[in-house]
Amino acid sequence: MKKPWYKSKPDFYLLEQKIIDEKYPTLFYSVRDSKVYLSGILNINHIYANEHITDAYEIEIEFPDDYPSSLPKVWELGGRKENTLKKRGLSSILDLHYFSDGSACLCYERAVRRYFPEGSNIEIFLRRLVEPFFYGQSYFQRHGKWPFGEYGHMYEGQGLIQFYSDELNTDDLNIIFNCIKLLAKDEQVKGHWLCPCRSSESLRKCHPELFKRLYDLRKIVSSDDAKLDLTHLAKAYKEYQVRVNRQKTYNELVNKSIRNILINRKF
Ligand SMILES: [Zn+2]
Repeated sequence: MKKPWYKSKPDFYLLEQKIIDEKYPTLFYSVRDSKVYLSGILNINHIYANEHITDAYEIEIEFPDDYPSSLPKVWELGGRKENTLKKRGLSSILDLHYFSDGSACLCYERAVRRYFPEGSNIEIFLRRLVEPFFYGQSYFQRHGKWPFGEYGHMYEGQGLIQFYSDELNTDDLNIIFNCIKLLAKDEQVKGHWLCPCRSSESLRKCHPELFKRLYDLRKIVSSDDAKLDLTHLAKAYKEYQVRVNRQKTYNELVNKSIRNILINRKF
């Protein structure tokens, strides 16, 4: 039988433990029946969907023997999903993006490699998949709807922008958009490229920190990822325009009918 990952890649396991010690001190590793688990409290403190949510979840993560080739499974163990079902009058955890075995449905199958690419580690797993998932759970508990659209997923439209905004440390939409265009090039990020802020200076000279961040981002965002993100953003922008126009038309209609009522009404 093939050795499980923590025995066949002991250095990688050590590195994972170091990351957890430093960045997630409320989670701890254990090994039971030759399987690795990461258990404890996961703190949520994010503004993915225009709302700041702080929350805490009792979770357990189970690592498959061929991790990180396959994705770990995540369980919520503090009774939160049962509370949400009750509060929202729902009967099945499937409605809350959990599988029937009780594990979390972190993202739709097709997209796994995109959010958890080859060479990923536990931090990427927690940051890109687990934290957005539980942010969504808290959001749904509060509002009875999902923050990231139909898929319940953050990397569509608004969530996608939030992701790049966090990674690039800027709120400037033009810079974010230009950076994704640079990432869509099929090559390593180069310091002599023109800066995404359009200063006509080189990236390295003009925005050295942004250069470093873009360079790091290349490790988790491939050229194909960036191209797909550009398509998603274009679609999200179109949907946004449609929504704004619908609201505008509606407001005009309402205003007109209110005016008519006021004019025709005999006091
Ligand atoms: Zn610049």
